[in-house]
Amino acid sequence: MSTPTIGVLALQGDVREHLVALAAADAVARPVRRPEELAEVDGLVIPGGESTTMSKLAVVFGMLEPLRERVRSGMPVYGTCAGMIMLADKILDGREDQETLGGIDMIVRRNAFGRQNESFEAAVEMAGVAGGPVEGVFIRAPWVESVGARAEVLAVHDGHTVAVRQDHVLATSFHPELTGDHRVHALFVEMVRAART
Ligand code: GLN
Repeated sequence: MSTPTIGVLALQGDVREHLVALAAADAVARPVRRPEELAEVDGLVIPGGESTTMSKLAVVFGMLEPLRERVRSGMPVYGTCAGMIMLADKILDGREDQETLGGIDMIVRRNAFGRQNESFEAAVEMAGVAGGPVEGVFIRAPWVESVGARAEVLAVHDGHTVAVRQDHVLATSFHPELTGDHRVHALFVEMVRAART
């Protein structure tokens, strides 16, 4: 089967690192800023950055509804950190006017780890990722307060859920794109391949 094309939402955040990680995991990777570009990809990564800014720019660029529509209709999506916040059906400690796309029945608390520790690294055992723990890079990271019945918890750090999957939507509190270990991106590329067959 041909190589899947995976976009990285390029409104704000660490776009380049995800493009590199996706290419290393055998996908064709390209930045996505406009609805026409979104229409051309088989899957999408929402990077880390600042979810309040990303939310605002999604409105300005006319991307909010097209993104919601594609997530609803089954396009595989993977969000890291701010991207995880964007994929939560409900958030805590967000800005009042902050929008999310939704996709995972979970409540995510923004900057939750940040209140304790601005940034840190920790070994994280993640279900679906073989070969030992991944290096979790947490930067003003959110955690998942609770998940609904359809969401599957894939990883926990310090008693807090930090990786979740619900059907075609994957989210991590941490940033695998910053480590040079492409196993989580490879898992996502597999999800995109599976959705195409
Ligand atoms: N604290 C940021 C937010 O609220 C997320 C930080 C990150 O993506 N590294 O969006």
